[in-house]
Amino acid sequence: MSEMIFLLLIFGLPAALGFKLALSRGKNPFLWGMLSGIFPFFLVVLHFHRPDHEIRGHFRKCRTCGRTVLWKDTVCKYCSAKIDVSERQ
Ligand SMILES: [Zn+2]
Repeated sequence: MSEMIFLLLIFGLPAALGFKLALSRGKNPFLWGMLSGIFPFFLVVLHFHRPDHEIRGHFRKCRTCGRTVLWKDTVCKYCSAKIDVSERQ
């Protein structure tokens, strides 16, 4: 039984994290959850990946330069343009 919990922690935890990260980046959560469970390295890949489209609640597209910034950012880190955070909420 304790082996089960051990396995769950080793593979389940990164898999769950990968699932969550993939969701917030508009990727296939099942594929990325599985990949992260086997190779936790994919969590790093996911973490640094920026989606190229807007994802509500996670990433927003800068109106000025068109790059993707974090949803909570109020200033674009690429072009320093102010981002109207009140739009489409
Ligand atoms: Zn910008």
